[in-house]
Amino acid sequence: MPFSRQTILFTPGPLTTRSSVRDAMRRDFGSREPAFIALTARVRSDLQALADAPGAMSVVPLQGSGTYAVEAMLGTLVRPGERVLIASNGAYGERMHTIATRLRIDAAILRRPVTSPLSPVEIDEALKRDPDIAYIAIVHGETTTGLVNPLAEISAVVHRHGRALLVDAMSTFGGWPLSLREIPVAALAASSNKCLEGVPGISFVITHRDLLAARRGVSPSVCLDLAEQWAALEENGQWRFTPPTHVVAALARALADLADEGGPRARHERYTRNRQRLVAGMRELGFETLLADHLQGPAIVTFKERPDLPFARLYEELAERGFILYPGKLTEEPTFRIGCIGAIESVEIDAMLAALARHAERQADQS
Ligand SMILES: *Cc1c(COP(=O)(O)O)cnc(C)c1O
Repeated sequence: MPFSRQTILFTPGPLTTRSSVRDAMRRDFGSREPAFIALTARVRSDLQALADAPGAMSVVPLQGSGTYAVEAMLGTLVRPGERVLIASNGAYGERMHTIATRLRIDAAILRRPVTSPLSPVEIDEALKRDPDIAYIAIVHGETTTGLVNPLAEISAVVHRHGRALLVDAMSTFGGWPLSLREIPVAALAASSNKCLEGVPGISFVITHRDLLAARRGVSPSVCLDLAEQWAALEENGQWRFTPPTHVVAALARALADLADEGGPRARHERYTRNRQRLVAGMRELGFETLLADHLQGPAIVTFKERPDLPFARLYEELAERGFILYPGKLTEEPTFRIGCIGAIESVEIDAMLAALARHAERQADQS
């Protein structure tokens, strides 16, 4: 590998972590140890502060990847008979619909093309048409394409109608300045291993204490019951079932590193620099982006395949050199994705681009 013994992940998570974060996992904690209980409390309060969440909200961490939190959010908060409208422009919106359907939630879906942002006007019309919709669920950053949906505008519409907004903020949380005081939501789900730059294994939901208190006994799942998880944490500071102790320690460290970097605003700027460098370099190599620049978020960029450079081959060659790219998630046309998040900067982007340029030259020589 050219400049680092470590593989560099250009993926939306798990992603490249700092050695400080990996080192934080060297110590074992017992789940009932006061030091571990304090660590959990610190992570919860750091996340609450990062979201600028009002004191009436609480952070409920959960064992598992991001989807576990999304499923827990829907399963715990939506009561039987209540209707959810999922506004979707990608695979993660579709996944929420799959989850809601499996949970036997009365769920409708309002679709937009993957290359168009969700429309606050369409959501407004849907809410006017159907007074029985109690919840709107959206994805903030659609990792399918890299598009970021207009959260503030959608929150305003949903609240004007007096309905509740559920947000999957998986690929923006920590890397996108956010204030839940300014942009109110009923609940927001995210995870440790994306813009927070921790390791995988923890997800969490930030929601209102009164909502959690009112939703005990609603979840059809024992494990994914946020109300019970919250009640246990509030009672004695402990997770209900075996906590991912090392992952909590890594996340505590990752949150401290985020603060040292200057918080989500500074991180957002670094990701934006990464993205600009990446897109400029890829365009020089003849790759087109799927999205118009003004729709593009900083987390991940979707590129159209070059017909002369099939992705499978390109992926293998770069992986051998320690650069892990990410396949596309679209069905209509061949694309692939490159993440800009994680402990990477211009130097890593440039090294990957150089490897990609050499691959393109070799392919051209062979044909
Ligand atoms: C990563 C991601 C998830 C969760 O995926 P997991 O594989 O369960 O961690 C959910 N929604 C979005 C938008 C994501 O980017």
